[in-house]
Amino acid sequence: MQIDQALRRQLIEAMAATVEAHWQELTELDQAIGDGDHGTGMKRGFDAVLADADKLAEQPLPAGLRGLGQKLVMTMGGASGPLYGTFFMELGKALDENPDRTAFAAGFARAMAAVGARGKSEPGQKTLLDVLAPVSKALAENETSAGIARVAAEAAEATVPMLALRGRAAFLGPRSVGHMDPGARSASLIIGAVCAVLEGKSG
Ligand code: ADP
Ligand code: MG
Repeated sequence: MQIDQALRRQLIEAMAATVEAHWQELTELDQAIGDGDHGTGMKRGFDAVLADADKLAEQPLPAGLRGLGQKLVMTMGGASGPLYGTFFMELGKALDENPDRTAFAAGFARAMAAVGARGKSEPGQKTLLDVLAPVSKALAENETSAGIARVAAEAAEATVPMLALRGRAAFLGPRSVGHMDPGARSASLIIGAVCAVLEGKSG
């Protein structure tokens, strides 16, 4: 599939739109087990990306992804800003201009590993990695876009009973159990938005 300039712009708009529609929910999730800034951080970051959408979309995919990641690092703040930024910057480094499905899956896995290295974290600790890991697996297994969106949503739900072992929520110990991880939820929203755009274009 050709991810051309129009599609790159559409993907940026879709990510920003889902954050716009859900940032209050992310605030509430982060109020329950963090400091309540994840919604405003995501909104600040993706508003800045949207404001720069033309410039980001007109660049080839790798440079556009790196630029998007840099924008998030500069604007989002919190623990999640550098983690999201790392994800997109590393994805940009890993992909060429026209990645096929196999290359995309490999790039996603590499970007996820960079997030883990940056956060000194791994799946199972109630973070956004608990969404990225099953999505990475589904990508490698050639799951459809609709299937990947479902995997991401279910993975975010599956963080509810987990004990937080990283980030601010870890300070709560057992009181972190029973709440969805805000970063897992935001990752599932972003992945869902991308999948909704790609659905029907590539399967
Ligand atoms: P902060 O905790 O600094 O307020 P945010 O509220 O923006 O940052 O983001 C919180 C989210 O970031 C968490 O829900 C979790 O998913 C993710 N997170 C925090 N610390 C880590 C870490 N060390 N590794 C991976 N993810 C993390
Ligand atoms: Mg927070």
